[in-house]
Amino acid sequence: MNTNNTQTLFVKFPHLYRERTAPLESSKMAWGFQCEDGWYKIIYEMSKKIDKISTEGEHAPAISLVSRHKDGTLYVAVSNITPPVADIVTRATEQSRLTCEFCAYTPAFLRTTKGPHKGHIACGRCLSKAAPAPKGKAPKRRTKPRRAPDTIVVKR
Ligand SMILES: [Zn+2]
Repeated sequence: MNTNNTQTLFVKFPHLYRERTAPLESSKMAWGFQCEDGWYKIIYEMSKKIDKISTEGEHAPAISLVSRHKDGTLYVAVSNITPPVADIVTRATEQSRLTCEFCAYTPAFLRTTKGPHKGHIACGRCLSKAAPAPKGKAPKRRTKPRRAPDTIVVKR
């Protein structure tokens, strides 16, 4: 996840992400969010919900790792977890199953074919954007600006 989004989450939910400064032996949160920015909103909403039902203190839930499951979905480890917090995390994981990890488009699916998106949940557009150009052919470039259509349909 980019620095901007990472900082926003850390600043908005300082207590939930208090392990961000912990040594790596005790928490992996110092690594930041190990996923792409398409899931920022899911993580933000999840954090907001957990924060809302948590009281401050050392026994409050703390997120210690944000990464991906083997099936490509969002993985979140929480210390001091409670059943309602576990529910919120499960819902975020379920949401991530159909949300592009790169651009947040839905529906998106787990990609298993060789390429940069393998093992990630990605939409068709992100997939084709990353696909290498066919051999021997340079990608087509549009040199002229597109002409306006002769008939303009006015939507009412
Ligand atoms: Zn996408």
